[in-house]
Amino acid sequence: MKRVLSGIQPTGEIHIGNWLGAIVNYVELGRKLGREALYCIVDYHAMTNPLAYEKELLAQRTFEAALVNIAAGLDPEKVTLFVQSHVPEHTELSWVFTNITPVGDLQRMTQYKDKAAKLESVGAGLLMYPVLQAADILIYKADTVPVGEDQIQHLELSREIARRFNTLFGETFPEPTAYLNPDAPRVPGIDGKAKMSKSTGNTIGLLEDPQSVWEKIRLLPDDPARIRLADPGDPERSVVFKFLPYFAPKEMVEVLKEEHRRAGIGTLAIKQILFDQYMKATRPIRERAEWLRQNPEYVLDGLEDGARRARQIAQATMQEVREKIGLLRL
Ligand code: ATP
Repeated sequence: MKRVLSGIQPTGEIHIGNWLGAIVNYVELGRKLGREALYCIVDYHAMTNPLAYEKELLAQRTFEAALVNIAAGLDPEKVTLFVQSHVPEHTELSWVFTNITPVGDLQRMTQYKDKAAKLESVGAGLLMYPVLQAADILIYKADTVPVGEDQIQHLELSREIARRFNTLFGETFPEPTAYLNPDAPRVPGIDGKAKMSKSTGNTIGLLEDPQSVWEKIRLLPDDPARIRLADPGDPERSVVFKFLPYFAPKEMVEVLKEEHRRAGIGTLAIKQILFDQYMKATRPIRERAEWLRQNPEYVLDGLEDGARRARQIAQATMQEVREKIGLLRL
C-alpha cells in the first residue's frame, strides 16, 4: 500500500511558509492521490534545537500545531494525524538507522550546519535529526513526502538509508520521494532573504493577530532605489512582490507590477492589497481555528485516534525490522 507522510515541528507559530510549502500541498495531494496519508507532529525533533525548545511550551505548541493543521484543511477523520512521541517505534527504528548512517553524511547536511553555527554547544540529536526523520517516513513505508525545498537534502538521505538497509538486510523499505509545491517551494522570510522559518523569527503566522501581520507587511523592505513616489520602481527589489503572487490572482500581480514600474502606485498601497488578500485567504482557517479552540477535544480525540492507527503500522514494521537485523526473539 502506497502511503504519503509529512510532518511539522512544534517549534513555534506555524507560518505561511509551512502552510504554502507543505500543508496546502499535503491536503491537495491526499485528495488527488487518494492514498493513505499520515501527518506527524514531530515533537522529538523539536528537542534538537535548544534555541527553539522550551519544556514549558512543548505540549501547548504540539496541540497548537495539530489545531492549525486541522484548521488549514487537514481532516483527522481522513488523515492519520498524530504526535511522534506517541508512537515510540519511530525512535526505535531511528536507533537502527543510526548504525547504518555515516557521521560524515550527517555533518554535510546544510540545515545541520546552519543550526549548529548558531549554537555554543551542539547536541548529538541535532546531528541525528535526519536519521529520525528517515525513521518517521520509513516506519510507514511511505513513498511520497510533501515538503518544502529545505527538506530535499534530508529526503535524499532517507533514500540512501532505505537503500542501505535493503542491501544489508533484504528488501524492506521503498525509497521515498519529495513532493514540492511548484508555486511555493521556498517561501522567504519577511526580510526577503533567508527562508521563512519558525526558529529564525522571520515569519508571518498563519493565525497571527491582524494588527501584527499588518505591521510586518508594512515594514517589508522596499526597492532602495525608489526614494520618491514619482520614481519608477523595480518589482524584483521590493519584497512585497515576493509575497503577493501567493495570495493575489496572477493578473492582479501583473497590473500592480506594471503600475509600480511606471511609478503609478506607491509601495504602501501594494502592501495594503497584500494584507487584504492575505486576510481573505486565511479567514476560513482563522474561523475554523476559533471553533477548534472552543472544542479542544476534537483535536485531542483526533490525535489519540491517529496514534492508535499509526502504531498498528509502525509495530508491524518494527517487528519485521527486529527479525531482519537478527535480535534474539523470545
Ligand atoms: P524550524 O525553524 O524549527 O526548523 P521550520 O519553520 O523550518 O521550523 P519545519 O517544522 O521544519 O519548519 O517544517 C515543516 C514543513 O514546512 C516542512 O515540510 C518544510 O519543508 C516546510 N517549510 C518550512 N519552511 C518553509 C518555507 N519557508 N517555504 C516552504 N516550505 C517550508
